[in-house]
Amino acid sequence: MSSHRQSNSPLVRLVPCCLCGKEDFRLLFVKQSSRRESFQVVKCKGCNLVQVNPQPNSAAVRSCYDEKYFLRRTDRGYNNYFSEEMRKEVCRVYEQNLKDLKFDDYEGSLHAKKKARSKKQSLPTTLDAGCASGYFVDFMQKRGWKAEGIELSPHATAEGKKQGLTIHVGDFLKAKKLRPNSLDMISFWSSLEHMHDPRAVFQKSKSLLKPEGRLILSTCRYGILARLRGEKWRYMNVPEHLYFFSLPQLILMAGQCGFRVISWVSYGSGLTAKNKMSFLYRASKAFLDPLIKLVDQGDMIAIHFQSTKEYG
Ligand SMILES: [Zn+2]
Repeated sequence: MSSHRQSNSPLVRLVPCCLCGKEDFRLLFVKQSSRRESFQVVKCKGCNLVQVNPQPNSAAVRSCYDEKYFLRRTDRGYNNYFSEEMRKEVCRVYEQNLKDLKFDDYEGSLHAKKKARSKKQSLPTTLDAGCASGYFVDFMQKRGWKAEGIELSPHATAEGKKQGLTIHVGDFLKAKKLRPNSLDMISFWSSLEHMHDPRAVFQKSKSLLKPEGRLILSTCRYGILARLRGEKWRYMNVPEHLYFFSLPQLILMAGQCGFRVISWVSYGSGLTAKNKMSFLYRASKAFLDPLIKLVDQGDMIAIHFQSTKEYG
């Protein structure tokens, strides 16, 4: 480990790499949080996974998600996550991702199967982990699913609860209300990178899913754009983001926990949509976003996994 001075917060500790278990890291850089605390971004010498380490504990990270967090959210360039404009944009991305991931095909076959099996049609079930105010819960309900969400931040969930959505407030890994073997699908939209123990997240998802159930996740992707931008990369928000996976690293970890890949799509040229874009910025984004997607080098990635039968 580098001899660089560790973070000035007493709530941090060095943890073994979640992918390979080693505790041998190379310092990439030190990055300041929005509260001007310093965190080390390191690369594991065993498996190359980029991560914040030493890590602040859950309580320390949780304090970042105060009532202002979703209002000053900057990684997508919107000032207010709860605005109607943001909701529309988020739902547009869900729709596009599910289509690109061939989830629509699976969903169609599931609805058809359920209809054929029972006259009293039971709805397919889904849980969105890290659901914020429940945009995806609402989105899936409208697509004919029995949908629930779970979210750490009570500030975020208030809006969704007001609309009558089923949202649990709490830590996904500690939640006891979730029934094993009960879900057709589980999703993590830009939430895995926030979680302290991604391996436990995959393992718990496996236990909650029915045989051959689906896991959909999106996360920032450590690839060419991330390496080029380094500490200035738009997703290098510490300590909210703790892990920066490459595509093969994600597939490896999911595989070790009993999932196989159905499909993936990468997107995002690094140019974030903003309220006010100059003509040049807008034109560059309009040109680069599809190109990056075509060559599969986006700095966001969405993956569709299937829980495998033979595991365990
Ligand atoms: Zn490692």
